[in-house]
Formats: sequence, structure tokens, C-alpha cells
Amino acid sequence: MFKKVLIANRGEVAVRVIRACREIGIPTVAVYSEADADSLHVSLATEAYCIGPKESSKSYLNIPAIISTALISGADAIHPGYGFMSESAAFAEICEQHGIKFIGPSGSAIRKMGDKAQARATMLSKDIPITPGTGLIDNINAAKKFCKKAGYPVIVKATAGGGGKGMRIVNAENELEENIVLCKTEAQKFFGNSGVYIEKYLVNPRHIEVQILADRHGNVVYLGERDCSIQRRHQKLVEEAPSPAVNDKIREKLGKTAVRVAKAVKYEGVGTVEFLLDKNNNFYFMEMNTRLQVEHGITELISSIDIVREQINIAAGLPLSVSQRDIVLKGHAIECRINAENPAKNFMPSAGVINGYVAPGGFGVRVDSHVYSGYSIPPYYDSMISKLMCWAPTREEARRRMYRALKEYVITGVETTLPFYQDLIEDEVFIKGVFDTGFLEDYNRRKEEQNKDK
Ligand code: ADP
Repeated sequence: MFKKVLIANRGEVAVRVIRACREIGIPTVAVYSEADADSLHVSLATEAYCIGPKESSKSYLNIPAIISTALISGADAIHPGYGFMSESAAFAEICEQHGIKFIGPSGSAIRKMGDKAQARATMLSKDIPITPGTGLIDNINAAKKFCKKAGYPVIVKATAGGGGKGMRIVNAENELEENIVLCKTEAQKFFGNSGVYIEKYLVNPRHIEVQILADRHGNVVYLGERDCSIQRRHQKLVEEAPSPAVNDKIREKLGKTAVRVAKAVKYEGVGTVEFLLDKNNNFYFMEMNTRLQVEHGITELISSIDIVREQINIAAGLPLSVSQRDIVLKGHAIECRINAENPAKNFMPSAGVINGYVAPGGFGVRVDSHVYSGYSIPPYYDSMISKLMCWAPTREEARRRMYRALKEYVITGVETTLPFYQDLIEDEVFIKGVFDTGFLEDYNRRKEEQNKDK
């Protein structure tokens, strides 16, 4: 096992990884920016080092500072968390070149999946279903031809895109060229790669993703699916496991497909294969996230498997602790991402000091967070305060528990998305579980109508 693990991240995910290391008995090294000196991950780690100023580019993305901290502190492994360097093939390779184990897949697997157009080509060659689409666009006429044949709407996507950025929906041919140009410009600006391609845009599918674990010895298992259809601007708000739309037969089919996806790139580590599921239960590979995901905790709740612990074990060369036959999914779990944002003002970020904080608790309630009373939320990073997860034997019980926990949660001093979730969890469509990725738009429309009637 590793002697010491450096966590190249901040916030709740740094705390999550430190907790797993502590349970295994591995000392940890936290790194932090000047703006994060008071963050919980700094005080929970065995050692902590400031690696740069507030700007991520000079701290959490500063490879020389991170690598030298690992070498000086004697860390023999680096956990990248999610975001920041977690999907950087170059960083994974630089770690290896310095004799430090990157806790994640190989640079080559990250590269194969990180480029969406390339990942689609790989899947096509392995007979994994993908949405109809093009390769990289270099010719507007070829693009027009595809769209005419597939039918509008289509979606133009940056091949290097992520986090809901670099995507444009196009409804008619006269909007196509302009959107390709805009998408290319954005892609260059955000991802330093102007490559874009086109996919058929499915109208209101479900976003279903499968958690997989793959070790060095060729074992690959799936831990069931998560339904992440409730999104705002293509970013997830509420996740649940299992999906209310997936039965045992489809679950097995999705799971086995996800395992084939992982094997196609000789994947090693924990990962998530994302699919779109249509109304007729057809599913299409969308992308693979080659890292730990924000919403991994709800899968832990229904599978009783500590995904971060497995991830560390895999990186250390140990075999998976479970085989597919051992995996039994039990009950239902829901997660709400609580952000420091004002839902009444179009989710505007609300940085500042949390002057009062009481987290909910009780049976089946889990709060993963790095904040506490008196903590000041820096304005430089993402606005997540915590992940509130609830587990119960059935979906309805988990939903009611979530409502209870949301009502119990006190966060004062900054605006939060708590009131938004309190309403959403009680929504009749959410209660029925019959939503898709068009949920939020429909929900907002219904809310507006209700307000008009009042
Ligand atoms: P990112 O890498 O930025 O997360 P994804 O490719 O995973 O982007 O897509 C994010 C979301 O965008 C999906 O969950 C889905 O809601 C929507 N989406 C993406 N591609 C399509 C498509 N072809 N048809 C319909 N919706 C799509």
C-alpha cells in the first residue's frame, strides 16, 4: 500500500479522499491555495502545504508545485479528485515519470476517452451503440448533409468539452454554420482545442450513467446506474440510484455494455460510462468520465462499496474486493448538490462567510462537505457547499427523508439552493419519477403558471 497520498484538489472531494485514506491508515498531504488556508481539507490532512495564490492556474493546476510538494513530502501517490487535473493525461504521465502513482487510469486511457470524437470512433469500432453523428467537422457541406439525413435538432459538441460547456443545439439548417463557428470559438477559448463534431439531438432522453470498477488483473464490475436527468444548463442538480426508469433487464444490459466500454480502452480504475436512454429503452454511449464523480456517494449507499477505497486499492495493484456476483444493490439513494447560489436570481453565485451551519443527520442521511460555521466561501472556485445524500429502502421513503433533511439543514450568511430543492423534491412529477432531461424547463414553466394563478 502507499506510504503517503497527496490530494491534488480542494473542497469536499479532498475531504472525501482524506477520510478514505485515514480509514485505510495512509497519511495524507493536502495542498491549498492562499485563498483556502481555512478549508477543512487543510486541517484534516496529516500535512498541508500552500502551493500558490488564489488563481487555480497558479495553484491547483500548477503541476511543478504539486509534483515538487509530493517529492519533498515523500508522497508516493497523488489522488486528483474530480475537476482540476483529474482528466489530464499529461499530469497522469508526469506523475508516473516522477515515480509517483497517479490514482486513476493511464494517460493513454484518459486520452482515448477525453476526446469525445475519438471515444465515439472507438465505441463504433467495438459495436457499442452511439447516437448518430459525424467525426470532427472540417467541411460545412458534409455537416449539412449529415444533419439533413439525421433530421434536426442536432447538437454541435466540442470534442474536448466537459462540465456542460461547449455544446450548442441547432434546430434548423440556417442556424447550423453560425453555431459551428461559435462552438469552435468557445471550444478554443475554454479547452484550447477548436475541434467540434455533430450528434443527433435526442429530444428529452434520460441521462443514465453506470459506475464501473476495473483492476489491473482484468476484473471489471458494474455497480448499477445513476439517473442524472435533472439538470440545469446540462449540469446535474439531483441524482438518484437506481433510476426509476431502469428495470433489472435493462440494468444488466447497461452494465454489461459499460464493462465492454471499459475493456475497449484497457481501463484501470473507477470510472463512469454515460448513456442517453430514450423512451423506447434504447440507449446510446455518450462519454466516459475517467475519474471519480461528484455523485459517486449514492452508488456507495445502495451498494455498500466504498468506491474511493476501491480506487486506492486498484491503484496500489490490489484486485477488486468484489466480483459481479457479490454485488447486491439495496434500496434507493438521492443526492442534492447544495450550492452557494441564489436560486431567485438565476443561480447567481453567493460567496461570503457562513455564519451559521447545522447539517442534518439521522438514519440514512449523509452530508459530504468541507464547510463549517465561520467558514468563508472563496469566490474563485465552484460554488458547491455540500452534497446531501439520503438512503431508504424505497424511492418514496428516500424522497421523504430528503425533504426532511433539506428542511432541517441550516446555512446562514450566504444564499443557498436549499429552498430550490425543498420545492423540487415535493414536485408532483419528481414524486412520480417520470422525468427526463427536459424536467427543469417543464418544472420552471409549471411554477410560473402557478405563480400567475395566485
Ligand atoms: P459534458 O461532458 O459537458 O458533461 P455530455 O456530453 O456529458 O457533456 O452531455 C451533458 C448533457 O447534455 C447530457 O446529460 C444531456 O442532458 C445533454 N446531451 C448531450 N448530448 C445529447 C444528445 N445527443 N441528445 C440529447 N441530449 C444531449
